[in-house]
Amino acid sequence: MAFEGLADRLQGTIQRIKGKGKVTEQDVKEMTREVRLALLEADVNFKVVKDFVKRIRERAIGQEVMESLTPGQQVIKVVRDELTELMGGEQSKIAVADRPPTVIMMVGLQGAGKTTTTGKLANLLRKKYNRNPMLVAADVYRPAAINQLETLGKQLNMPVFSLGTEANPVDIANQAIEKAKEDHQDYVIIDTAGRLHVDNDLMDELQQIKANVQPDEIFLVVDAMTGQDAVNVAESFNEQLEVSGVVLTKLDGDTRGGAALSIKAVTDKPIKFAGMGEKLDELEAFHPERMASRILGMGDVLSLIEKAQDTVDENKAKELEEKMRSATFTFDDFLEQMGQVRNMGPLEDIIGMLPGANKMKGLKNVQFDEKQLSHVEAIIQSMTKQERQDPSIMNASRKKRIAKGSGRNVSEVNRLLKQFEEMKKMMKQMSNMPKGKKGKGMKF
Ligand code: GDP
Repeated sequence: MAFEGLADRLQGTIQRIKGKGKVTEQDVKEMTREVRLALLEADVNFKVVKDFVKRIRERAIGQEVMESLTPGQQVIKVVRDELTELMGGEQSKIAVADRPPTVIMMVGLQGAGKTTTTGKLANLLRKKYNRNPMLVAADVYRPAAINQLETLGKQLNMPVFSLGTEANPVDIANQAIEKAKEDHQDYVIIDTAGRLHVDNDLMDELQQIKANVQPDEIFLVVDAMTGQDAVNVAESFNEQLEVSGVVLTKLDGDTRGGAALSIKAVTDKPIKFAGMGEKLDELEAFHPERMASRILGMGDVLSLIEKAQDTVDENKAKELEEKMRSATFTFDDFLEQMGQVRNMGPLEDIIGMLPGANKMKGLKNVQFDEKQLSHVEAIIQSMTKQERQDPSIMNASRKKRIAKGSGRNVSEVNRLLKQFEEMKKMMKQMSNMPKGKKGKGMKF
């Protein structure tokens, strides 16, 4: 999970100060020492850590008093505010040109995830902002890169502009923009060449494209897992090309978070998007405040809600709510529900967005076994339609048959039936509660 190591350490520190009714200078000193160590261990740039800790210390000692918070909580708020600021403060928006198409140039080293991110960004622009992007293959040195972009275009059912490997990247970009105008494509995303290291030839070429095309955005794609190397790469690209924002890829595998926490402070360029997996829908707008809350174990309920809104059909959700209220929820509904939760992504990621999830020791060791879910699905699928509506009609021999049909054993079938009954009982109790009490204990 992203930031797991850092989150663990910071949450331990936070926990110790949280309940304090009085926070002494000594407490603040101790806390900032631990925060400093945690950040250094997370591979955050040394100078960034120094400034960060200094600001927290000053603010926490000369504490602004808020009546609604205990002194311990106020210190935590300071840490959260400063972490948010460190990652860029407000979420930054993507440019829209006055006259379409808006041109985005993607730059970065080979292997950082540039081509994949080009596809993901196009997908996000269409899905979230209702845009109509065109992809442009301007990496003329690697035929494989052109093929990769064309494959992505097919998967997304989006146009890909290419002139093969013989043309000049500047011509490719110019012609692509003309074509986009003719075809009324409102975004053009140019996938440029990368190298293994920053070199002059590459920078010359990128500068030429920039000068000719005058892009509305230049997004630098860097690999979060390379930590301070990513920060150095960002620094040199920015010096020579003046990028407008950073896309941090592979954050899903970055337990430390050093790049995410240093890039803005070092380059003064915001992280605009984060890659959270290899799939085309695994690119998220980067929200510094939500990320800070996630790191401190306060959860990221807003992202969770957005994820659910993206994947859950609202009418179906209403129907389901009604069924839960009237306790007519069946195994068929259960199956459908499982499908929707699975569409939201790996369970571990979803749980990671819940406040306090990191602290729940029990949860930490639970392997969210997707296999387990498949077993439950297999058992339900082996039931007849009538049995799914009314499980009480199942006798011992039917249970045996269902176990056999799903490749599980009878005790698993029994366990599922029992859990389902208990769930229904709980729903019934909840729907009998007076209004206003229902949410109790279920708040995030
Ligand atoms: P390029 O050379 O910069 O164009 O890099 P590619 O787009 O070919 O990506 C290199 C590798 O990184 C591929 O295997 C991608 O699937 C993988 N990748 C890209 N973005 C992410 C991400 O956000 N998470 C993970 N886990 N893998 C990613």
